[in-house]
Amino acid sequence: MDKQQEFVLRTLEERDIRFVRLWFTDVLGYLKSVAVAPAELEQAFDEGIGFDGSAIEGFARVYESDMIAKPDPGTFQILPWRAEAPGTARMFCDILMPDGSPSYADPRYVLKRILAKTSDLGFTFYTHPEIEFFLLKDKPVDGTRPVPADSSGYFDHTPQNVGMDFRRQAITMLESMGISVEFSHHEGAPGQQEIDLRYADALSTADNIMTFRLVMKQVALEQGVQATFMPKPFSEYPGSGMHTHLSLFEGDRNAFYESGAEYQLSKVGRSFIAGLLRHAAETSAVTNQWVNSYKRIWGGSQRTAGAGGEAPSYICWGHNNRSALIRVPMYKPGKTGSTRVEVRSIDSGANPYLTYAVLLAAGLKGIEEGYELPAGADDDVWALSDSERRAMGIEPLPQNLGEAIELMERSELVAETLGEHVFDFFLRNKKQEWEEYRSEVTAFELRKMLPVL
Ligand code: GLU
Ligand code: MG
Ligand code: MG
Repeated sequence: MDKQQEFVLRTLEERDIRFVRLWFTDVLGYLKSVAVAPAELEQAFDEGIGFDGSAIEGFARVYESDMIAKPDPGTFQILPWRAEAPGTARMFCDILMPDGSPSYADPRYVLKRILAKTSDLGFTFYTHPEIEFFLLKDKPVDGTRPVPADSSGYFDHTPQNVGMDFRRQAITMLESMGISVEFSHHEGAPGQQEIDLRYADALSTADNIMTFRLVMKQVALEQGVQATFMPKPFSEYPGSGMHTHLSLFEGDRNAFYESGAEYQLSKVGRSFIAGLLRHAAETSAVTNQWVNSYKRIWGGSQRTAGAGGEAPSYICWGHNNRSALIRVPMYKPGKTGSTRVEVRSIDSGANPYLTYAVLLAAGLKGIEEGYELPAGADDDVWALSDSERRAMGIEPLPQNLGEAIELMERSELVAETLGEHVFDFFLRNKKQEWEEYRSEVTAFELRKMLPVL
């Protein structure tokens, strides 16, 4: 038994923890949990806990349904909303096949695989997500319009504002679980919040995002509201993005930094961005995986709603250009570690493991193949005409999930990164979602057509 495992077992006793939840994530990005008694844990560390993989989205075909969840002791945390004794704790798990080999269906393993390649190339990959979401009075399940929990706007700070109390409690809870928060504020739409996590290695960030979503839902319930990470719950308000800042380090040195270069951006940084851009359309089905994701990307309100409404629609990069898919934020003088790239397409409904895996793969491909970075866009690309954009070589992101799936299906990069199993399941599942959506007669059609036809 190693030191971390011993620490977990000791803490269970000292803190009177009676339930240990073992967490993992299915291919679509839903959190799964199985609780074990502390007495079982020693064995769980050795052999893992068996479960029926065929009952989990994307995990197994029926004939290979036996799977094993093996807890990662480095992720042990006590759940603060179960603080009263006896307590509850959680650990993330790696999913194994019965013979002990890693499961190709486990999104965490998909990310670990590309992280191992990154480390072979001498790099560590850091991520810093800005997570937006809505607080709603309720979550209607019958398709009617939800009601935001407050009526504030960007950076508003009003007493009696649900969001303010909410953010304070939510951040306290995150920090007590070892998740550091860098910024938080009210976002542009009524009920919309943003909380930014401090940068961490990509695997920890992805685990933290899964925890974050649960904590937000938990705190919301305690305050009599509901939290949602749906990318675009309202047509007239901006959607919820999960912009993520990415950087590669070689030891303690930021590989994206070069003193004196334009935006202090090194050649490695430029090729990484070139990779993200060249593969943006084919990775879109992963970074924006729902029918609703494309309502955020193409929803007209981002052009009119002012601050906070800016979801990218076109594949280009810029410096301080919020209409660009990729932004190189201002370099902070004296902070050589701060050079990074912000990817703005990702939405809050994404599976963070798969999303970081495909983005990293795209960026590394740019570095390995020495892709040249096209000229940056200084203009507001939404304001340009189609022919102006075409003349500048700026392509749109996919128009909808259907188009995104078609592009992904032809992508060697995504197939290789996700591995055959996840790639096939993902495509099958998303095609079904698209087909169901395509054949649905919507409220829009009834409202527009029925009165006149
Ligand atoms: N809500 C916007 C989006 O969907 C982002 C606003 C911001 O710049 O923070 O991406
Ligand atoms: Mg941002
Ligand atoms: Mg924001």
